[in-house]
Amino acid sequence: MTDILEQLNKVRRGVMFVIEAPSGTGKTTIIKKLLAEDKNLKFSVSVTTRARREGEVDGVDYIYVTDEQYDKLLAEDAFYEAVDSLYGGRYGTLRSEVDSFLNVGQDVVFDMDWLGMEQMKKKAPNDVVSIYMLPPSIKELRRRLEGRHTDSIEKINKRMSVVLEKMAHWTEYDYVIVCLNPEQATETIRKIITAERLKRVRQTGLKAFTQSLIDEVKNGEHA
Ligand code: 5GP
Repeated sequence: MTDILEQLNKVRRGVMFVIEAPSGTGKTTIIKKLLAEDKNLKFSVSVTTRARREGEVDGVDYIYVTDEQYDKLLAEDAFYEAVDSLYGGRYGTLRSEVDSFLNVGQDVVFDMDWLGMEQMKKKAPNDVVSIYMLPPSIKELRRRLEGRHTDSIEKINKRMSVVLEKMAHWTEYDYVIVCLNPEQATETIRKIITAERLKRVRQTGLKAFTQSLIDEVKNGEHA
């Protein structure tokens, strides 16, 4: 019987989940947890011109490029969306990366800012689901940023100074959750993902499935 669910899950329109939160909320950890638990969910690795942080891996966290390489990709129209970040770097989502997943019925997770989300929503209004995560308090956000030990104090101060600017966009998202801890937030997002996958319009295999049920009744196979 579980075969039926697996089969229905395969014939589906892929969903694009865009997740955003102020730096330090725990977004990266939560995305990693979601991906580890769900083989149908893939991460869209973005292109960036910003420097690689310690612990980050080229091709896994980001594809790190020079400004010249980024300009070339822009000129080739290789990006689904592209923005200049508030922090200085440039970021972009490769069409080839996204399509390689959607074409085989997988869902995609994006870690991107609201400007990118807006561009994605315009391009695929029915297939983009946006999720915004809020921290439980600003004090806790700063504590988490300092606990990461990846950014200098200047960088942390800069990130804190744009928190309000970034948070102002929470009203533009489909779902808003408060992240108390990675486990609670991951669990909540998993529920959103499950519900979005079950939307009738996304379950393109339902037509054939319900027809098979009708045929069963007509052919008296239930007797
Ligand atoms: P970070 O440099 O800390 O990894 O990310 C800085 C900001 O850039 C975050 O808000 C992150 O969500 C956003 N970002 C990362 N990749 C992309 C992308 O491909 N497109 C857009 N628009 N924003 C991105």
